[in-house]
Amino acid sequence: MPRCASLGTVLPRVAGPGLLLVLVLFGVSGPAAAQEHVEYERPVDVAPTEDTIGEGYVTPEVQRPRPRAAAWQIADVVLLAAALGVAAWLAIWRRQRGWLVALTTACLLYFGFYREGCVCPIGSTQNVAVALVDHTYAVPHYVIALFVLPLVAALFFGRVFCAGVCPLGAIQELMVLKPVEVPRRLDKALGWLKWIYLGTALYYAVLPAIERDFVICRFDPFVGLFRFTGAAWLLMVGGAFLVVGIFVGRPYCRWLCPYGALLSAFSRYAWRPFSITPSRELDCGLCQSACPYGAIEERRAVRTSCFACGRCYRSCPVHHAETPESVVPAAELAGRPPEAAP
Ligand code: SF4
Ligand code: SF4
Repeated sequence: MPRCASLGTVLPRVAGPGLLLVLVLFGVSGPAAAQEHVEYERPVDVAPTEDTIGEGYVTPEVQRPRPRAAAWQIADVVLLAAALGVAAWLAIWRRQRGWLVALTTACLLYFGFYREGCVCPIGSTQNVAVALVDHTYAVPHYVIALFVLPLVAALFFGRVFCAGVCPLGAIQELMVLKPVEVPRRLDKALGWLKWIYLGTALYYAVLPAIERDFVICRFDPFVGLFRFTGAAWLLMVGGAFLVVGIFVGRPYCRWLCPYGALLSAFSRYAWRPFSITPSRELDCGLCQSACPYGAIEERRAVRTSCFACGRCYRSCPVHHAETPESVVPAAELAGRPPEAAP
């Protein structure tokens, strides 16, 4: 079993990020509670329709999911929490890539295509930011829950949200077929883009209401694919990410996702992240060649960039001997140098 730090040594480490989350919760939950008392007054008695407007006016198609009943919102939060728990269990305790792929596919179908990618934790970053600076802005409790849950999970188990729950990660994960290695210095340099994007998105989100913009949602490259609609250029950008993603593992996740920046910061303090341990693995380096995300350095998974996808376990001869799920025969792998591993 992978060794993990005791709770006694871990609690001081997670105290900082945990406290930050609690402050965020306090900061945003006030306006959210106040939201229930706000009376909505419709500014006009009769809304214009296609008939009253005339001249062949056609109402544009709504490009965002319609509001959901409270019960369904609660169901989404419960499903997200359950999926995070299952992802952590499969990645860290069971170490089963096959079941992680099944979870990834299920979450892509539900949170991606069925729920149309909205509201998602990535976009909720903007709602939470606005609520922190503008106390007239009410953010629903379930949006707060969607924002916080993956971060709390990251504090305990690393980026398990990216492992098998996030639909944006899932659609890229399933496209990785012939990954090439990105030079490490280039990989690290591109990794700064997600912080720049996060800063830009927060800047536009906290502008006065009249100028405010949610750029993460506006320029989400995959949400149009989930909804089978959207601006043509954005659909092409999403498609380009997927095509590039055949050869370069998860480009959006690694270099652009603003919520991924937060997750990497929180997973730095993770109590029990995904690990490659000499006590359980062969420590031969095959896993390093198998990771399409450059997330293994010196034969250890880097907790800030590891997506807990489980691909490296599939390349491990020891893991293969324990489970039937490796795609490469153990004898074949054991005789190969790391460079030749899949
Ligand atoms: S990095 Fe962002 S887009 Fe990728 S799986 Fe994680 S949260 Fe989703
Ligand atoms: S080290 Fe790489 S291959 Fe292994 S789980 Fe992390 S991201 Fe996946």
